Amino acid sequence: MDDITDTVYDSVIIGGAAASLTAAIYAARRAMKTLVIAKSIGGQAAMTDVIENYPGFMSVGGIPLMNKMLKQAIKAGAEVIYEEVTVIEEIPNANNGKPMFAVKTSGNIYKTKTVILSYGKTPRTLDVPGEGEFGAKGVSYCTVCDGPLFKGKKVAVVGGGNSALEGAEYLSKICPKVYLIHRRDQFRGFEYLVEEVKKRENIEILFNSIVKEIKGEQTVHSIVLQNVVTNETKEIPVSGVFVEIGSVTKTEFIKHLVKLDQMGQVLATNNAETYYPDSDKVRPGIFAAGDITQTPFKQIVVSAGEGCKAALQAYNYLAGQQPTFVADWVAKKKK
Ligand code: NAP
Repeated sequence: MDDITDTVYDSVIIGGAAASLTAAIYAARRAMKTLVIAKSIGGQAAMTDVIENYPGFMSVGGIPLMNKMLKQAIKAGAEVIYEEVTVIEEIPNANNGKPMFAVKTSGNIYKTKTVILSYGKTPRTLDVPGEGEFGAKGVSYCTVCDGPLFKGKKVAVVGGGNSALEGAEYLSKICPKVYLIHRRDQFRGFEYLVEEVKKRENIEILFNSIVKEIKGEQTVHSIVLQNVVTNETKEIPVSGVFVEIGSVTKTEFIKHLVKLDQMGQVLATNNAETYYPDSDKVRPGIFAAGDITQTPFKQIVVSAGEGCKAALQAYNYLAGQQPTFVADWVAKKKK
C-alpha cells in the first residue's frame, strides 16, 4: 500500500539534472519546502565526458558538474529522494480552492502545492528480446559512464548519430574490436566524427543492419543482426552493447495535466508556466523547465536557467497565495 506523507511540500521537483537541481537550489533558498524526486542524478549531462561550454568552467566532466549541483541543492535545504514518479494528480478541494497535487512513486505519495516538471529526456530503447534482461549486464545507454567497464572486450555500438559516433571512437581506444551498427547506409553525425570513426582500424561499420536479439547467460555474449537490404542474419560475439539511438520525452502520464506539443514536449511560457491540455490557459501550480519543454536549445546552461525561472515563478505563485511567505535571504538581511 502506498504511504501518503502528512508533509505538504511547497514544491516537488521531478528530475535529477541541471534544470531540477538548479530549481531546487533556488526554491530551497527562498525557504520553500522542497523535495527533488529523481531516478538518478545527472541526466543527459552525466553522459558527457567533457563539457567545455558551461560558463565558469573551462572544462568539466558531466558527472562532477551534476554532483556539484546536487551538493549545492542539498546545502540550500532541498530534500532528495531516489524514486520514479508514476502518477501526478490534482487533489480536489485540498488547499482552500488552490491546487494541491499528489505525486505518486512506486511506494509513496507526496503532497505538494507546486510541481516542477524537469526530468528531461530518456534514452530510446531498441525494444528487442534480451535488451531488458541484460540491462546493466552488458546493455548500456551511456558509453561515457559504462565504457570503462568494457576495457579489453569486444563491444557493439548501435546508432548513427553523434552519440554513437563519439561512443564508438571512445571505445576504440580501450576495446580491441568495436562494431558500429547503423540501420541506414549514411550517418547523421558531424563529418569530422564520421572521418575519425572510419580511420580507426578496430571499428567495423555495419550499415543497413538492425539488432534482432541480444543473447547471453549471466551477461551478454552475442547479438543477432539482420541486414535490412539482403535480409541475411548473423550472430556476432560481444560482451557489451551500447545503445546510442537518441532519446524520447516520456510525458504520456502527465498529458491529462498539461499541454504537450506534437513531440510530447511540455509547452511552457517564458516564465516556465504550463498550460491546461487543449487550452491556452496557464495551469496554476505546475511549472516546467529544461529538455522536457519545447525549447529547441537542449543545453545544460539553458536547463539551469529555466530551472531557476521555474523555481522563482513557483515562489511568486505561492507568495501571491500567501502574502506572509517570505524568502529566507530576505529574512536574513533584516536581522
Ligand atoms: P540522434 O541524433 O537522434 O541520432 C539517433 C540515431 O539512432 C540515428 O542515426 C537514428 O537512425 C538511430 N535510431 C533511432 N531510433 C533507432 C532504432 N529504434 N533502432 C536503430 N537505430 C535507431 O541522437 P544522438 O546521437 O543521441 O544525438 C542527440 C543530439 O545530441 C543530436 O542533436 C546530436 O548532434 C547531439 N550530440 C552532440 C554531440 C557533440 O556535439 N559532440 C555529441 C553527442 C550528441 P536514423 O539516422 O536512421 O534516423
